[in-house]
Amino acid sequence: MSESGENVAPTPRGLPAEVARRRTFAVISHPDAGKSTLTEALALHARMISEAGAIHGKAGRKSTVSDWMEMEKARGISVSSTALQFNYRAAGSDIDNVINLVDTPGHSDFSEDTYRVLTAVDAAVMLIDAAKGLEPQTLKLFQVCRHRGIPVITVINKWDRPGQAPLELLDEISERIGLTPTPLFLPVGIAGDFRGLLRRGPEGEASEYIHFTRTAGGATIAPEEYLTPDEAQAREGEPWTTAAEESELLSATGQDHDQEMFLAGQTSPVIYASAMLNFGVRQLLETLVELAPAPGSRADVTGKERTTGDPFSAVVFKVQAGMDTAHRDRLAFMRIVSGEFERGMVVTHAQTGRPFATKYALTVFGRERTTVDTAYPGDVVGLVNATALAPGHTLFVEKKVEYPPIPSFAPEHFATLRARSAGKYKQFRKAIDQLDSEGVVQVLRNDARGDATPVLAAVGPMQFEVVTARMQGEFNVETQLDFLPFTLARRTDAESAPELDRQRGVEVFTRTDGVVLALFSDKWRLQYIEKEHPNLTLEPLVATA
Ligand code: GDP
Repeated sequence: MSESGENVAPTPRGLPAEVARRRTFAVISHPDAGKSTLTEALALHARMISEAGAIHGKAGRKSTVSDWMEMEKARGISVSSTALQFNYRAAGSDIDNVINLVDTPGHSDFSEDTYRVLTAVDAAVMLIDAAKGLEPQTLKLFQVCRHRGIPVITVINKWDRPGQAPLELLDEISERIGLTPTPLFLPVGIAGDFRGLLRRGPEGEASEYIHFTRTAGGATIAPEEYLTPDEAQAREGEPWTTAAEESELLSATGQDHDQEMFLAGQTSPVIYASAMLNFGVRQLLETLVELAPAPGSRADVTGKERTTGDPFSAVVFKVQAGMDTAHRDRLAFMRIVSGEFERGMVVTHAQTGRPFATKYALTVFGRERTTVDTAYPGDVVGLVNATALAPGHTLFVEKKVEYPPIPSFAPEHFATLRARSAGKYKQFRKAIDQLDSEGVVQVLRNDARGDATPVLAAVGPMQFEVVTARMQGEFNVETQLDFLPFTLARRTDAESAPELDRQRGVEVFTRTDGVVLALFSDKWRLQYIEKEHPNLTLEPLVATA
């Protein structure tokens, strides 16, 4: 937050300082873990909103963050949820940090985009419901982070409710995903009686007690009191002693924060929190500012690093087409990798070599879709009517660069698609190619099925809805979608394909990028085939399966 409590436009300070004060991250979580509540709590701490409430769902409260989300939804484009930018000034600092929170769409709109977002961030916050522990969607997103080497900060949420014991949750994290949790703060008071946080020093010694006071319904920032360990002991007694002992136990097993190990993705700093009561939210912001990496260099297709100080370049990580026929606008979201972006600058689209004018560049600031004039590495900018752009594409000025494509992620939903009327076949073909190149779905083909009924593969079923809606709205082709009974894909090769095709519950396809995929009805079928035919090539696809 800035001193004045407002999101003031940054004063020009030069590129290196702009890069250094930026933090770009995403929250990875399972539905209901509290991502919306946490987002709102962060906005509250950054003074973007004055009162939380809409998402907490308390009747009679002023509706806040979610009303603009609803507005954008009504327009068919969720711009606001793509990236939220706010300033935050840590206590004692004279720098306004710029925090970019890039949304990972979840719930029913979980899709390949959810994974692609993780190519645009420098860190992730893994948000866990204290009572539920690690859940499937969190695990999938975590695997993508691991694959990409993204450092992960863990937030254990809903500590205001009865849940597991604090150290048990940590064991679950290290045992199930091999990530060593290194708490920065431990809860004082058992789950359900959350009083405050013990701040752990470098060797696990209790260095401070942060006592929180609840506010009515958690609508405003919870007042914090800072006490010394002795004062904490006198104030809290047993719960404090327990927390201090737990901290020592963790040190004895080497679970202290180590910046190098954190950046290498081997350990994860942990914060216990209640997003609803705004407990631990400031500590999360502090941690992001202190420990999460600022935007850094990125390797291009030849392996050469482009540093943040190089001329402007950016990677497109998401393209959204208005599903509403009245709104044909297509928005391409890019993450800036190097240099300064100025609206109106003409950039080169690396994939086509064509110039691209950036007159219509948007960002989200507070409640509005606002025109962005200047942006820096780590920032997310939306480009309007960006018809040629697809996820993974590169934009640059001056010094040519092309970044590696975003990998396709392991699909789990499969369906055939055909035009209802044979007369529309030509449009249908064209539309499929277009949607395929945009990365809306993965398109699989084999000789047996032919070209008229390609198989669509998706990470989330909403991708199919987007395809059928756009087929109808944009290409005027009515389609028929039929789900296929496959749930799992593995990468295989031409040698293994004939044997796999002979198996029951398996079908082999070639994806547009040339990768040969075998689809399986379920994991038992896959396991059986792996056992019976150990020589077949069957590799997991990127990270998620
Ligand atoms: P999302 O699906 O991850 O965005 O989760 P929401 O933010 O919508 O929260 C899901 C539910 O959990 C809502 O009923 C929230 O009020 C509740 N919730 C979120 N954070 C907390 C918390 O810290 N404590 C408690 N007790 N409930 C919470």
